[in-house]
Amino acid sequence: MPMCVTYGASMAARQQVIDLHTHSCCSDGTQSPADLVRTAAQAGVDVVAVTDHDVTTGWDEAGKQGEELGVRVVPGIELSCQAGGISVHLLAYLPDPQHSDLATMLQRVRQQRNTRLRTMVQRLAEDDYPVDYDEIVAHSGAGATLGRPHVADALVRAGVYPDRDAAFAEVLHGRSRYYVRHWAPDGLDAVRTVRAAGGVPVMAHPFASARGRTVSEGVIQEMAHAGMLGLEVDHRDHTDADRARGAGLCDRWGLIPTGSSDYHGTGKPNRIAEHTTSPESLERIVAVGTGTQMRGASLP
Ligand code: AMP
Ligand code: ZN
Ligand code: FE
Ligand code: FE
Repeated sequence: MPMCVTYGASMAARQQVIDLHTHSCCSDGTQSPADLVRTAAQAGVDVVAVTDHDVTTGWDEAGKQGEELGVRVVPGIELSCQAGGISVHLLAYLPDPQHSDLATMLQRVRQQRNTRLRTMVQRLAEDDYPVDYDEIVAHSGAGATLGRPHVADALVRAGVYPDRDAAFAEVLHGRSRYYVRHWAPDGLDAVRTVRAAGGVPVMAHPFASARGRTVSEGVIQEMAHAGMLGLEVDHRDHTDADRARGAGLCDRWGLIPTGSSDYHGTGKPNRIAEHTTSPESLERIVAVGTGTQMRGASLP
């Protein structure tokens, strides 16, 4: 009996493992949504958000796998936006995917991304890089949101670079002659649209400066005034000082702090649940997110 008591106490004390930012092959992750949830289950994750770039197609498959494995799945999106020309990634939890303004916004970003990727591939091919747009589409998930990582993968397949990182460092970074920008909605419009769709907007990696310019605190505050509800504080691209700053802004402005892995399968070194979100923050998100239901299931 004492064994049972000890066991019970330790079960009660175990904190839920919650990772609210991951990618499947519906965008630039390397695993199917089901495999992504399997990886989460194996890593002891209780709650995982599937947040593919600008697309919601992975939600159902991830949710079904979550039901089988006892993992809760939070339907999400990582929306590509911009503020004054600076790229902003906005996580949107539990939005209604059928909300017409949101659906239109997502479709427009994806279409513009595809056009832009075609131009980047053309520029590379003109300089004799062995890349072909149709080959890239054929190797991507059906209807996947295409991005530079897909071009990186093509260059890796062709043996030009050993991995995505090397391809980004040489030809795919933002100051490369092959780089082409794409249209993205203004951050304020995106925040309002996500809220109108019943979703919870949280700015992803607000201070991740290694891959380009980041927005000012003034922009973050404006987005908060427009209805943004949280900041991703714990993320591998944030320094300790960035995290302290993010936590401070959350305290000051009443925003929800989150932490997540930004897992991309083998596409990035990020390990699932390497950073996590507190149950309190998840509760705050679920209390506001009314656009769609959580999927999957928790183990009895
Ligand atoms: P895009 O949205 O098409 O401009 O491409 C940006 C995407 O590439 C983001 O999802 C980043 O996570 C990813 N990315 C940026 N730099 C790298 C890198 N060095 N290695 C792998 N992925 C990267
Ligand atoms: Zn990505
Ligand atoms: Fe991002
Ligand atoms: Fe991401």
